[in-house]
Amino acid sequence: MRMQRQSKFRLIIKHCRLCQQSMETVDYKDIQTLQRFCTQHGKIISRKRSGACAKHQRMITSAIKYARFMALLPYVS
Ligand SMILES: [Zn+2]
Repeated sequence: MRMQRQSKFRLIIKHCRLCQQSMETVDYKDIQTLQRFCTQHGKIISRKRSGACAKHQRMITSAIKYARFMALLPYVS
């Protein structure tokens, strides 16, 4: 009997959280939302891990960078 080999990587269909909430813009003052897209150390989570679409990921990145500049989020912690 031949065993069928299963793929190591399962296909996971991700949906953009911000699209589901129908958010048009990402506010740099909304720290709680932005912190969900940061690691413990303050790094921005990539699109692959966050599951955000390209449009929203761009907004998130610029919002986080501006929030860092305004000292709302840490650069490193
Ligand atoms: Zn989106």
